[in-house]
Amino acid sequence: MEKFDVIIVGGGPAGLICAEKLSKSELKVLLLEKEDAFGDKVCAGGLTRKGLALLDIPDDIIGQKVYKTTVYSRKRHSQAETRDPVVVTIDRRNLGAWQRKQLDNTSVVIRKNARVTEIRKESLIVNESEEIGFRFLVGADGYASLVRRYLAIPLEKKLIGIQYVVPVNNNEQRLEIFLDRKHFHAWYGWIFPHRGKNALGCCCDPRYLSAKKLKENFQHWLKEKDIDISEAEYQSAPINYDYRGLSFGNVFLVGDAAGMASGLTGEGIYQSLVSGLEVAEYILGREEVSDAMKAVIRYNRIQEKMMKIFIRLGWFRGSAHEMIIMLLNNKRFKARVNKGFS
Ligand SMILES: Cc1cc2nc3c(=O)[nH]c(=O)nc-3n(C[C@H](O)[C@H](O)[C@H](O)COP(=O)(O)OP(=O)(O)OC[C@H]3O[C@@H](n4cnc5c(N)ncnc54)[C@H](O)[C@@H]3O)c2cc1C
Repeated sequence: MEKFDVIIVGGGPAGLICAEKLSKSELKVLLLEKEDAFGDKVCAGGLTRKGLALLDIPDDIIGQKVYKTTVYSRKRHSQAETRDPVVVTIDRRNLGAWQRKQLDNTSVVIRKNARVTEIRKESLIVNESEEIGFRFLVGADGYASLVRRYLAIPLEKKLIGIQYVVPVNNNEQRLEIFLDRKHFHAWYGWIFPHRGKNALGCCCDPRYLSAKKLKENFQHWLKEKDIDISEAEYQSAPINYDYRGLSFGNVFLVGDAAGMASGLTGEGIYQSLVSGLEVAEYILGREEVSDAMKAVIRYNRIQEKMMKIFIRLGWFRGSAHEMIIMLLNNKRFKARVNKGFS
């Protein structure tokens, strides 16, 4: 049986950045991805400034640099325009291909079409036939993580994200956020501009609003806004925000597998990158938690608290949304929110 120091299961943003960090060490590393392409996933593709700072991605990978944002409540709206992009959008397949390319000419062994089908104490099985040994195992295998299930870590807190990808002729560089109690409960709707297409979506925790109801509400909302989805592709995927730690002996979880996403916004790429780097550092011998990781945990906790407040507000949620927009029309408050979220 072949044996590696580290096996990373999953070639999304978390697994690929973890592999890149480990590629600079002497360790023998294997990355296994079940699909033919890396990082291709249902996603609005919004990457905030913090995320961009971790990846040195060239401009041709970026779909749109977003300088203009409008946040709507049912009755009001607030617009912002920034000097630096508040967020950029990326096609996940392009990001995955670019991250994968960073591993060219390194010692990391990369295998695609390699689905991990079973995990044992010091080895795993690929495509139900081949056994490979490991000293450390990293679960970067997303929402339905097999590694998380192997560790018997429960998953109680999740979001369902749904979206339509709509072809557009104009190249509007505006991000639009919709706070709408009637349609999106405590969460929100979004329009992320990409090159030649827009990602229109929303998310919710199915404990409070079922996925079926969210889809119905979303379609009603699209009709109300007179948005044509006849040419659009419908997509849906869950998002794990049930974080229980990254380290479990010689087994680690990163990204969505670890529940690193925000329970309010569904944002998870930045958190995946931070946790992927963090676990690589643990494997290389660092014991203390980094400031970046502490900040992500704090950020996610604050977002979850905000989500719970919105849920408890019930019928008053609509008034709270109106108040948020009024506050957002205050320059100083707007600048603080902009800094906090991006
Ligand atoms: C509708 C929607 C919109 C979103 N929009 C945004 C956004 O705008 N911005 C943002 O930051 N986040 C967004 N997210 C969240 C974001 O997509 C995730 O948080 C992020 O992709 C997590 O990265 P990851 O590397 O942990 O996992 P993933 O990207 O899910 O990657 C996991 C990889 O593991 C592979 N894999 C799984 N099982 C196995 C196995 N058994 N063997 C081998 N390989 C395996 C998969 O094929 C996949 O490539 C959105 C999510 C949804 C659903």
